[in-house]
Amino acid sequence: MDLIQRGYSCKYDMEIFINLFFEKDEDVIIMTDMKHEDDIINVYVEIIFNGKVYFGDYKYKFFHDINNKNNVKKNYTCSVTKAFCETAKKIRNVNLSWGVMSGIRPAKVVRQYIEEGYNEEEVKNILLKLYNTSKEKSELALLVANNEKKVLENINKNSVSVYIGIPFCPTRCLYCSFVSTDIKRSGKYMDEFVSLLIKEIEKTSEIIKKCGLYVENVYIGGGTPTTLSEKNLKLLLESVEKNLITDKIKEFTLEAGRPDTINEEKLTIAKSTGVNRISINPQTMNDITLKRIGRCHTSDMIREKYDLAKKCGFKNINMDLIAGLPDETVEMYKYSLSEVEKLDPESITVHSMCIKKAAALRFSGIELTKSENMNKMLDHTLYEMIKSGRDPYYMYRQKNISGNLENVGYAKKDCMSFYNINIMEEVQTIIALGGGAVTKIVKDDKIERIFNFKDPYEYIKRFDEIIEKKEEILKYYG
Ligand code: SF4
Repeated sequence: MDLIQRGYSCKYDMEIFINLFFEKDEDVIIMTDMKHEDDIINVYVEIIFNGKVYFGDYKYKFFHDINNKNNVKKNYTCSVTKAFCETAKKIRNVNLSWGVMSGIRPAKVVRQYIEEGYNEEEVKNILLKLYNTSKEKSELALLVANNEKKVLENINKNSVSVYIGIPFCPTRCLYCSFVSTDIKRSGKYMDEFVSLLIKEIEKTSEIIKKCGLYVENVYIGGGTPTTLSEKNLKLLLESVEKNLITDKIKEFTLEAGRPDTINEEKLTIAKSTGVNRISINPQTMNDITLKRIGRCHTSDMIREKYDLAKKCGFKNINMDLIAGLPDETVEMYKYSLSEVEKLDPESITVHSMCIKKAAALRFSGIELTKSENMNKMLDHTLYEMIKSGRDPYYMYRQKNISGNLENVGYAKKDCMSFYNINIMEEVQTIIALGGGAVTKIVKDDKIERIFNFKDPYEYIKRFDEIIEKKEEILKYYG
């Protein structure tokens, strides 16, 4: 792929949109030429693809935004990327309901405009006119920004969240791109991993105290943390309770994603150590798809384990679904959503199918769901969730997401996950422990990252380095 830009260069943004239309190995030459005269930005585009030339010549009215010092750059970037997308659409039909908004956090963009003094109508106008975002997506971004605002306003600057990554799963799902290993391969490391993780928890607790901070939210994810044996889960949760939990804790989440890893004993351990939010993730309620994607449980098992979790006293349960799973029709997706709604969890998170390079699916030749069907699934979700009293409260987009769409968490009143909002909006430090975990230190509007090793074997072998790196946190709060 060759990109030549005259008049104005925005290679980084262009690459995001080029990747939506063309595969990396395709032979394509793209040329853009931008001129700005008075109030008009004129962009000429030429794309040479498969020996054929496609032209586009577009004029955009300069969007005045007196509050924003980067406005000229924003106008230029939006104009050039819009002109490219319009021309590329002559070759391939790609869903552009988010227009040329390239970032992964649309609600953060909205929040920044509101903080600059714009009212909601003005922000909507900017999204529609400058970014070409659809009316539905603009409204969704505003809804999310409004809902998360209530949580963001109450964050104390001395508080942190803690993330603990458990990189084990019973089997590997076909679409998985998370930090996780199949226990057939790495189960032998579990005992040692947990005993070192407890040391990391103790070290983190010391550092948090030395920095004068306190823990507001704990999130144990992965992988599937409930893959751990009852003994290891108890050791881990008791250590979290002893070292990290104080009376200031707001949320303690345990991902119990795969129903085949949950039993009454594990749920009772979780409840007794203070876990107040769990996530049981069906992804789909269609048994045929569950089998196809490599999950070794049925939809009945999901219903059974959900009832068990309620019986064990959990009052805040999230359930994840994926829109656009292989060979799922819109009707099949709607069935999954309605079956999950019958269970009535406090929150439902809907992910759009995302395939990263590592996932086996990318190489399996399975066709992705068409973008118009993805849109139907997501529009139906928003309608159903609002009707059932669940508001969209956090949202993010990813590269390689099917149909260029979004992931959204919907929650009943007072059941929004603080941790999910914080990780998306990057307004609170998140200290991360365990496999594949990434600490994000948010200080003075800057974000510093400290990485843990992904693989359990590497985590064990180089544990001393992990402990040394934890000390780095001190220099930001000294
Ligand atoms: S349960 Fe999640 S982390 Fe585990 S293999 Fe499946 S997608 Fe990956």
